[in-house]
Amino acid sequence: MDKVSVIERISRGVVRVLGLNPGPFTLQGSNTYLIGYGERRVLVDTGDGNQPGYFGLLRECLGTSRVDRILLTHWHADHIGGVNQLLEMRDIVTTGCTVYKQLVDSDEEPDVAEMLAGARQRGCLRDIADSQEFIVDDMVLRAVFTPGHTPDHVAFTVSGGSDLMLLTGDHILGQGDKIQGTTTVHDLGSYMESLNRVLALRPTALLPGHGPVVSGSGPDGYRSIRVIEEYIKHRMMREQQILDVLASDDKAWRLEEITRAVYKDITDPKIILAAQNNTLLHLKKLLAENRVQQVNVDQEIRWALIRPNI
Ligand SMILES: [Zn+2]
Repeated sequence: MDKVSVIERISRGVVRVLGLNPGPFTLQGSNTYLIGYGERRVLVDTGDGNQPGYFGLLRECLGTSRVDRILLTHWHADHIGGVNQLLEMRDIVTTGCTVYKQLVDSDEEPDVAEMLAGARQRGCLRDIADSQEFIVDDMVLRAVFTPGHTPDHVAFTVSGGSDLMLLTGDHILGQGDKIQGTTTVHDLGSYMESLNRVLALRPTALLPGHGPVVSGSGPDGYRSIRVIEEYIKHRMMREQQILDVLASDDKAWRLEEITRAVYKDITDPKIILAAQNNTLLHLKKLLAENRVQQVNVDQEIRWALIRPNI
Protein backbone atom coordinates (compact mmCIF):
# COMPACT_ATOMS: atom_id res chain seq x y z
CA MET A 1 0.00 0.00 0.00
CA ASP A 2 1.27 3.45 -0.84
CA LYS A 3 1.78 5.64 2.13
CA VAL A 4 -1.21 7.93 2.32
CA SER A 5 -1.75 10.75 4.74
CA VAL A 6 -4.59 10.01 7.14
CA ILE A 7 -5.74 13.63 7.11
CA GLU A 8 -5.62 15.68 3.93
CA ARG A 9 -6.80 19.25 3.51
CA ILE A 10 -8.31 19.52 0.05
CA SER A 11 -9.55 23.10 0.23
CA ARG A 12 -10.26 25.66 2.94
CA GLY A 13 -13.53 23.96 3.84
CA VAL A 14 -12.91 20.34 2.83
CA VAL A 15 -10.77 17.85 4.74
CA ARG A 16 -10.42 14.16 3.92
CA VAL A 17 -10.14 11.89 6.97
CA LEU A 18 -9.16 8.29 6.31
CA GLY A 19 -11.37 5.61 7.93
CA LEU A 20 -8.27 3.55 8.86
CA ASN A 21 -9.82 0.36 7.47
CA PRO A 22 -7.54 -0.75 4.61
CA GLY A 23 -8.41 -4.02 2.90
CA PRO A 24 -8.84 -5.78 -0.45
CA PHE A 25 -12.26 -4.18 -1.00
CA THR A 26 -11.60 -0.77 0.50
CA LEU A 27 -8.19 0.07 -1.09
CA GLN A 28 -6.38 2.24 1.49
CA GLY A 29 -9.60 2.42 3.52
CA SER A 30 -12.79 4.45 3.33
CA ASN A 31 -12.47 8.18 2.86
CA THR A 32 -14.71 10.39 4.96
CA TYR A 33 -14.97 14.14 4.46
CA LEU A 34 -15.42 17.01 6.89
CA ILE A 35 -17.04 19.99 5.20
CA GLY A 36 -17.04 23.54 6.55
CA TYR A 37 -14.69 25.69 8.57
CA GLY A 38 -16.98 27.17 11.21
CA GLU A 39 -18.26 25.78 14.49
CA ARG A 40 -20.79 23.47 12.80
CA ARG A 41 -19.47 20.96 10.27
CA VAL A 42 -20.90 18.32 7.97
CA LEU A 43 -19.40 14.82 7.89
CA VAL A 44 -19.85 12.72 4.75
CA ASP A 45 -19.66 8.99 5.58
CA THR A 46 -18.40 7.55 8.84
CA GLY A 47 -15.94 4.69 8.25
CA ASP A 48 -16.79 1.17 9.42
CA GLY A 49 -17.05 1.86 13.17
CA ASN A 50 -14.35 -0.66 14.09
CA GLN A 51 -11.34 1.67 14.12
CA PRO A 52 -11.09 3.69 17.37
CA GLY A 53 -8.20 5.67 15.87
CA TYR A 54 -10.54 7.15 13.29
CA PHE A 55 -12.60 8.95 15.91
CA GLY A 56 -9.37 10.40 17.30
CA LEU A 57 -8.56 11.79 13.84
CA LEU A 58 -11.97 13.47 13.68
CA ARG A 59 -11.41 15.06 17.12
CA GLU A 60 -8.03 16.31 15.95
CA CYS A 61 -9.56 17.96 12.86
CA LEU A 62 -12.55 19.42 14.68
CA GLY A 63 -10.86 21.08 17.66
CA THR A 64 -13.70 22.98 19.36
CA SER A 65 -16.08 22.71 16.40
CA ARG A 66 -18.63 19.89 16.13
CA VAL A 67 -20.41 17.86 13.44
CA ASP A 68 -24.11 18.71 13.33
CA ARG A 69 -25.04 16.82 10.14
CA ILE A 70 -23.86 13.43 8.90
CA LEU A 71 -24.55 12.63 5.23
CA LEU A 72 -24.33 9.01 4.08
CA THR A 73 -23.55 8.01 0.48
CA HIS A 74 -24.96 4.46 0.68
CA TRP A 75 -25.69 1.56 2.99
CA HIS A 76 -22.38 -0.38 2.82
CA ALA A 77 -20.87 -1.00 6.27
CA ASP A 78 -17.56 0.72 5.48
CA HIS A 79 -19.50 3.97 4.98
CA ILE A 80 -22.20 3.89 7.66
CA GLY A 81 -20.73 1.56 10.31
CA GLY A 82 -19.55 4.48 12.46
CA VAL A 83 -22.94 6.21 12.84
CA ASN A 84 -24.08 4.62 16.13
CA GLN A 85 -20.82 5.37 17.93
CA LEU A 86 -20.47 8.88 16.54
CA LEU A 87 -23.91 9.84 17.85
CA GLU A 88 -22.70 8.94 21.36
CA MET A 89 -19.58 11.12 21.12
CA ARG A 90 -20.36 14.61 22.43
CA ASP A 91 -16.79 15.73 21.69
CA ILE A 92 -17.42 15.05 17.98
CA VAL A 93 -21.13 15.64 17.29
CA THR A 94 -23.67 18.16 18.61
CA THR A 95 -26.59 16.91 20.73
CA GLY A 96 -28.95 17.74 17.86
CA CYS A 97 -26.83 16.08 15.18
CA THR A 98 -28.94 14.83 12.24
CA VAL A 99 -28.16 11.86 9.96
CA TYR A 100 -29.20 12.02 6.29
CA LYS A 101 -29.46 9.04 3.96
CA GLN A 102 -31.60 8.19 0.95
CA LEU A 103 -34.01 5.84 2.73
CA VAL A 104 -34.91 2.64 0.86
CA ASP A 105 -36.63 -0.66 1.69
CA SER A 106 -33.31 -2.48 2.13
CA ASP A 107 -32.59 -0.25 5.15
CA GLU A 108 -34.87 -2.68 7.01
CA GLU A 109 -32.49 -5.60 6.43
CA PRO A 110 -31.02 -6.61 9.81
CA ASP A 111 -27.38 -5.57 9.14
CA VAL A 112 -28.33 -2.15 7.82
CA ALA A 113 -31.09 -1.59 10.37
CA GLU A 114 -28.58 -2.23 13.14
CA MET A 115 -26.13 0.32 11.75
CA LEU A 116 -28.91 2.92 11.55
CA ALA A 117 -30.48 1.98 14.90
CA GLY A 118 -28.81 4.74 16.92
CA ALA A 119 -30.09 7.42 14.55
CA ARG A 120 -33.58 5.86 14.45
CA GLN A 121 -33.81 5.67 18.25
CA ARG A 122 -32.85 9.33 18.55
CA GLY A 123 -35.35 10.27 15.86
CA CYS A 124 -32.61 12.03 13.91
CA LEU A 125 -32.56 9.91 10.73
CA ARG A 126 -33.75 11.93 7.73
CA ASP A 127 -34.40 11.01 4.09
CA ILE A 128 -32.49 12.78 1.30
CA ALA A 129 -34.30 14.14 -1.77
CA ASP A 130 -32.55 14.30 -5.13
CA SER A 131 -30.88 17.73 -5.56
CA GLN A 132 -31.47 18.56 -1.88
CA GLU A 133 -29.09 21.28 -0.71
CA PHE A 134 -27.12 21.46 2.49
CA ILE A 135 -25.55 24.83 3.24
CA VAL A 136 -22.32 24.84 5.26
CA ASP A 137 -20.68 28.21 5.85
CA ASP A 138 -20.41 29.66 2.32
CA MET A 139 -20.46 26.29 0.58
CA VAL A 140 -23.38 24.33 -0.85
CA LEU A 141 -23.58 20.54 -0.86
CA ARG A 142 -26.13 19.17 -3.31
CA ALA A 143 -27.36 15.56 -3.40
CA VAL A 144 -26.99 13.78 -6.74
CA PHE A 145 -28.84 10.46 -6.85
CA THR A 146 -26.47 7.99 -8.48
CA PRO A 147 -27.90 4.46 -8.29
CA GLY A 148 -25.88 1.59 -9.73
CA HIS A 149 -23.26 0.62 -7.15
CA THR A 150 -26.23 0.28 -4.79
CA PRO A 151 -29.85 1.39 -5.32
CA ASP A 152 -29.60 4.02 -2.54
CA HIS A 153 -26.35 5.62 -3.69
CA VAL A 154 -26.04 9.40 -3.44
CA ALA A 155 -23.09 11.54 -4.52
CA PHE A 156 -22.76 15.18 -3.43
CA THR A 157 -21.43 18.19 -5.26
CA VAL A 158 -19.60 20.76 -3.17
CA SER A 159 -19.59 24.22 -4.67
CA GLY A 160 -17.88 27.29 -3.40
CA GLY A 161 -15.89 29.70 -5.53
CA SER A 162 -15.27 28.53 -9.09
CA ASP A 163 -14.68 24.84 -8.25
CA LEU A 164 -17.28 22.13 -8.36
CA MET A 165 -16.03 19.14 -6.42
CA LEU A 166 -17.92 15.87 -6.51
CA LEU A 167 -18.01 13.57 -3.51
CA THR A 168 -18.40 10.34 -5.47
CA GLY A 169 -18.94 7.73 -2.72
CA ASP A 170 -18.35 4.36 -4.38
CA HIS A 171 -19.78 5.44 -7.73
CA ILE A 172 -16.26 6.32 -8.93
CA LEU A 173 -13.06 5.37 -7.12
CA GLY A 174 -9.82 7.32 -7.04
CA GLN A 175 -7.00 5.26 -8.48
CA GLY A 176 -4.03 7.50 -8.88
CA ASP A 177 -2.62 7.65 -12.37
CA LYS A 178 -3.95 4.30 -13.44
CA ILE A 179 -7.49 4.73 -14.61
CA GLN A 180 -9.67 1.64 -14.60
CA GLY A 181 -13.42 1.42 -14.60
CA THR A 182 -13.72 -0.77 -11.55
CA THR A 183 -16.22 -0.52 -8.77
CA THR A 184 -18.73 -3.23 -7.93
CA VAL A 185 -22.05 -2.65 -9.61
CA HIS A 186 -25.50 -3.82 -8.65
CA ASP A 187 -27.39 -2.56 -11.72
CA LEU A 188 -25.33 -1.66 -14.77
CA GLY A 189 -28.10 0.18 -16.62
CA SER A 190 -28.63 2.65 -13.77
CA TYR A 191 -24.89 2.77 -13.11
CA MET A 192 -24.22 3.97 -16.68
CA GLU A 193 -27.02 6.53 -16.45
CA SER A 194 -25.51 7.79 -13.20
CA LEU A 195 -22.06 8.08 -14.82
CA ASN A 196 -23.55 10.19 -17.62
CA ARG A 197 -25.36 12.28 -15.04
CA VAL A 198 -22.19 13.13 -13.13
CA LEU A 199 -20.25 13.71 -16.35
CA ALA A 200 -22.81 16.36 -17.32
CA LEU A 201 -22.06 18.20 -14.07
CA ARG A 202 -18.44 18.73 -15.30
CA PRO A 203 -16.88 18.47 -11.82
CA THR A 204 -13.40 19.93 -11.45
CA ALA A 205 -12.35 17.35 -8.84
CA LEU A 206 -13.51 13.91 -7.69
CA LEU A 207 -13.44 13.17 -3.97
CA PRO A 208 -13.98 9.40 -3.90
CA GLY A 209 -15.10 7.08 -1.11
CA HIS A 210 -11.88 5.12 -1.61
CA GLY A 211 -8.52 6.02 -3.12
CA PRO A 212 -6.86 9.35 -3.78
CA VAL A 213 -8.60 12.56 -4.77
CA VAL A 214 -8.67 13.14 -8.54
CA SER A 215 -7.91 16.78 -9.26
CA GLY A 216 -5.89 19.07 -11.50
CA SER A 217 -5.79 19.19 -15.25
CA GLY A 218 -3.63 18.09 -18.14
CA PRO A 219 -3.42 18.91 -21.85
CA ASP A 220 -6.80 17.20 -22.37
CA GLY A 221 -8.61 19.09 -19.63
CA TYR A 222 -9.66 18.27 -16.08
CA ARG A 223 -8.49 14.86 -14.87
CA SER A 224 -11.86 14.43 -13.10
CA ILE A 225 -13.74 14.60 -16.40
CA ARG A 226 -11.24 12.28 -18.07
CA VAL A 227 -11.69 9.66 -15.32
CA ILE A 228 -15.50 9.69 -15.69
CA GLU A 229 -15.15 9.41 -19.48
CA GLU A 230 -12.75 6.47 -19.03
CA TYR A 231 -15.24 4.72 -16.75
CA ILE A 232 -17.92 5.09 -19.42
CA LYS A 233 -15.57 4.06 -22.25
CA HIS A 234 -14.38 0.97 -20.35
CA ARG A 235 -17.92 -0.31 -19.81
CA MET A 236 -19.01 0.50 -23.37
CA MET A 237 -15.99 -1.36 -24.74
CA ARG A 238 -16.92 -4.43 -22.69
CA GLU A 239 -20.50 -4.22 -23.89
CA GLN A 240 -19.36 -4.07 -27.51
CA GLN A 241 -17.10 -7.11 -26.99
CA ILE A 242 -20.07 -9.08 -25.65
CA LEU A 243 -22.25 -8.00 -28.58
CA ASP A 244 -19.47 -9.00 -31.01
CA VAL A 245 -19.22 -12.46 -29.44
CA LEU A 246 -22.98 -12.98 -29.66
CA ALA A 247 -22.95 -11.76 -33.28
CA SER A 248 -20.18 -14.18 -34.24
CA ASP A 249 -22.49 -17.19 -34.09
CA ASP A 250 -26.24 -17.44 -34.46
CA LYS A 251 -26.55 -19.96 -31.61
CA ALA A 252 -27.79 -19.43 -28.05
CA TRP A 253 -24.74 -18.89 -25.87
CA ARG A 254 -24.01 -20.08 -22.36
CA LEU A 255 -22.87 -17.38 -19.94
CA GLU A 256 -19.57 -19.23 -19.43
CA GLU A 257 -18.92 -19.37 -23.18
CA ILE A 258 -19.46 -15.64 -23.61
CA THR A 259 -17.23 -14.90 -20.62
CA ARG A 260 -14.43 -17.10 -21.93
CA ALA A 261 -14.62 -15.50 -25.37
CA VAL A 262 -14.48 -11.97 -23.93
CA TYR A 263 -11.92 -12.49 -21.17
CA LYS A 264 -9.53 -14.67 -23.20
CA ASP A 265 -6.47 -14.17 -21.00
CA ILE A 266 -7.98 -14.96 -17.60
CA THR A 267 -7.24 -18.38 -16.10
CA ASP A 268 -7.57 -17.79 -12.33
CA PRO A 269 -10.92 -19.43 -11.40
CA LYS A 270 -11.75 -16.70 -8.86
CA ILE A 271 -11.23 -13.95 -11.40
CA ILE A 272 -13.19 -15.91 -14.01
CA LEU A 273 -16.11 -15.99 -11.59
CA ALA A 274 -15.89 -12.20 -11.16
CA ALA A 275 -15.67 -11.82 -14.95
CA GLN A 276 -18.74 -14.02 -15.33
CA ASN A 277 -20.68 -11.82 -12.91
CA ASN A 278 -19.63 -8.82 -14.90
CA THR A 279 -20.72 -10.42 -18.17
CA LEU A 280 -24.09 -11.20 -16.58
CA LEU A 281 -24.51 -7.54 -15.52
CA HIS A 282 -23.95 -6.47 -19.11
CA LEU A 283 -26.36 -9.11 -20.43
CA LYS A 284 -29.07 -7.98 -17.99
CA LYS A 285 -28.60 -4.39 -19.13
CA LEU A 286 -28.82 -5.47 -22.80
CA LEU A 287 -31.89 -7.59 -21.96
CA ALA A 288 -33.62 -4.57 -20.40
CA GLU A 289 -32.78 -2.61 -23.57
CA ASN A 290 -34.28 -5.37 -25.77
CA ARG A 291 -30.99 -5.97 -27.51
CA VAL A 292 -30.46 -9.56 -26.34
CA GLN A 293 -32.87 -12.32 -25.41
CA GLN A 294 -32.82 -15.25 -23.03
CA VAL A 295 -33.35 -18.65 -24.60
CA ASN A 296 -34.33 -21.66 -22.52
CA VAL A 297 -32.41 -24.71 -23.74
CA ASP A 298 -32.94 -27.90 -21.71
CA GLN A 299 -33.99 -25.79 -18.70
CA GLU A 300 -30.78 -23.79 -18.93
CA ILE A 301 -30.80 -20.09 -19.68
CA ARG A 302 -28.73 -19.09 -22.69
CA TRP A 303 -28.27 -15.80 -24.46
CA ALA A 304 -28.68 -14.63 -28.04
CA LEU A 305 -28.81 -11.38 -29.96
CA ILE A 306 -32.16 -10.00 -30.99
CA ARG A 307 -31.58 -9.67 -34.72
CA PRO A 308 -33.71 -7.27 -36.71
CA ASN A 309 -36.13 -9.05 -39.07
CA ILE A 310 -34.89 -8.76 -42.60
ZN1 LIG B 1 -19.91 0.55 -1.35
